[in-house]
This record gives sequence, structure tokens and C-alpha cells, in this order.
Amino acid sequence: MKIRKDDTVEVISGDDKGARGKVNTALPKEERVVVAGVNLVKKHQRRTSSVRTQTGIIEREAPISVSNVALVCPHCSKATRVAYQVAPDGSKARVCRKCGETIE
Ligand SMILES: [Zn+2]
Repeated sequence: MKIRKDDTVEVISGDDKGARGKVNTALPKEERVVVAGVNLVKKHQRRTSSVRTQTGIIEREAPISVSNVALVCPHCSKATRVAYQVAPDGSKARVCRKCGETIE
């Protein structure tokens, strides 16, 4: 998967189109990511045995498909597609297609 935890991404389709946020969780098996402040859903949290559980209506981010987000390049701050560059030692690096810089 091209998107990783702590990447900044831009939503490119759906209700949150245009929103940017940091990836809180990456779910490679499901090809989904949880992005801070994006795709908020209201959940009704009931009291449980745990004393610290927050009750009432809480907003949480729901995972969205990686096909609905684009990586935001930290160098040119544009939503970009990612290319891979293979170093002589065989390691792969992600490269911004717009400015050509390596994305950590
Ligand atoms: Zn760039």
C-alpha cells in the first residue's frame, strides 16, 4: 500500500473531498486508512463496565478506502501520485511525481 501511517493525505472523492489530514491508522489488508478529522461518524456510546468510557454521542473517524485519497507531498504540498524508485541496494523509495523528491 502506498499510504502509510503519519502520511498527510487529501481526500479526492466522496463527501470529504478536498479535506486534508494525517493518517492515524493504515489498514493494508483492507486497503483502508483512518484519516484525522475525515469521515466522521457519530456513535452512540453506552456505558460499559469501564469507568473511563466516554458516554453519549461521540464522533469518530471511520476508515476510508485508499483509492479515495491521494498522498500530499511534504515537499511541494500537492496531492500527488507516487512513483517507486529502487535504490542500488534494492530498497524502494517513494517519489513524488510532481516535484521528484523522495517521500519518507
Ligand atoms: Zn512533491
